[in-house]
Order: sequence, then C-alpha cells, then structure tokens
Amino acid sequence: MKLTLENVELYYHRVHALRNLSIEVNEGEIVSLLGNNGAGKTSTLSLISGLERAKSGRVTWGDKDLTKMQPWDMVGAGLLHIPEGRRIFSTMSVHENLLLGGYLVKDQKLVQERADHAYELMPRLAERRDQEGGTLSGGEQQMLALGRALVGGPKLLLLDEPSMGLAPLIVKQVMDIIKQINAEGTTVLLVEQNARSALKIADRAYVLESGRVTMSGTAAELAQDARVIEAYLGA
Ligand code: ATP
Repeated sequence: MKLTLENVELYYHRVHALRNLSIEVNEGEIVSLLGNNGAGKTSTLSLISGLERAKSGRVTWGDKDLTKMQPWDMVGAGLLHIPEGRRIFSTMSVHENLLLGGYLVKDQKLVQERADHAYELMPRLAERRDQEGGTLSGGEQQMLALGRALVGGPKLLLLDEPSMGLAPLIVKQVMDIIKQINAEGTTVLLVEQNARSALKIADRAYVLESGRVTMSGTAAELAQDARVIEAYLGA
C-alpha cells in the first residue's frame, strides 16, 4: 500500500508549518525526510498518524483516507509511529515494554513469536530482558522502541529521529536494524537530521525547508547533490 500526501497545508494557529506538501512512500521503500530544526519533519509524521489535522490536502494509505481515521485504528491497521524521545516505560522491564507493543494483537502466540524475533534481531535487548527500561542507554532505548513496534506487526513505520543523541557507532547499529526491519517487509518513513546516516539506508529522500519540499530524489542522487552536500552533509 502506498502512502500519499497531496498538497497538504498544516497550521498551528498562525504558524504555517507545512506548505503545499506532497510526498509519496511506495510499499517496501525506506523514504527519508531530511531537514533542519523546525523544517516540519515531526509535523509531517504527526499529520500522517492523526495527531494533527491538515487544514487542506489529502493523506491516503492504500485505499484508506487517513484524515478520517483515529490514531488507534491506524495502529490496528499496522501504521506505527515511533516519536522522537522513544517513550519507553521507565519502570517496566524490557520484556514488559516489548509485550506492550502487542496490546492490539489478539493472538498471544504471535506476540511471543514477534518478541522472540525482536530479541534475535537485537541481542542486546535479550541480554537486558529483565532490566528496567529507564536504565537502558539511549541506543538500547531506541532498539526497545523498534522492538516494541515490531511486536505490533508494522506494515508502515514512521520513525522520528532514531539517531538523536546517539554515538556514531550506535547510530550505525540502529540504522542497520531499520534496514533489516525493512528487508523483512515493513515500509519505512524515516525522519532524520542526520542526513548522512539516513541517505545510507534510504531508497529515496525529500528535503524539507520551512514546511516545503525543496529537493527530492533517490538517496544516491541526493548524496551527490552539491546543495545537499553543502547544507546537510558538510564538507
Ligand atoms: P525538529 O527537528 O526541531 O523537531 P521539525 O522539522 O520536526 O524540527 P516541526 O517540529 O514539525 O519541525 O515544526 C515545524 C514548525 O511548526 C516549527 O516552526 C515549529 O515551531 C512549529 N510547531 C510545531 N509544533 C507546534 C505546536 N504544537 N504549536 C505551535 N507551533 C508548532
């Protein structure tokens, strides 16, 4: 199922946060949204997952009109959003946090299987199964957020700055896990300020500036674009 945003306008009172925004994410892709602070990346994800509503424009996923769906119905349909900051339950164990991802899944055996698979993919979580979520490192918390999403059976995953605050080596590990989750069949929309890391795993990307798409293309094209290099990749 393809995710499509068409000519979206989003306001927060007088702040015009998204301007005539159109993006597409095809099934099976990793698409990255790049841009600096305040460019509108988080707003785009909030709009897709129903936390914000557009003033005008269309947001569809396959034949579903997302502007008419409630966030929990989207979760049930496999549209999962991992917000910035990860939102781990700090006094619950790693395992309890993981199982929470399956709260809408009726088949408990399936929940167990998916949790086992998350541990396989991220052995660091398995080693910390009984540890309190709040005591995990930033990278481990990001892995736990990904694991929790996996237990929900994601078809489309919205990721908000998974690399935030992580050391370069850990960023690489997290990106590799995202790539693997994608290879197993989950479509990914990846918001990142860390353009270098995002372009390594993405198929395509859009650059947002002041709520508008200013550039788009394949990740390989953008990684070689002089404007992208200057503004987002450094010398
Ligand atoms: P960051 O990387 O800093 O999170 P971003 O690209 O995700 O940036 P958004 O958080 O989407 O950007 O913000 C886009 C614009 O909308 C900014 O000008 C921001 O100040 C404004 N904005 C975001 N949320 C609100 C809100 N709840 N109320 C008012 N203005 C908001």
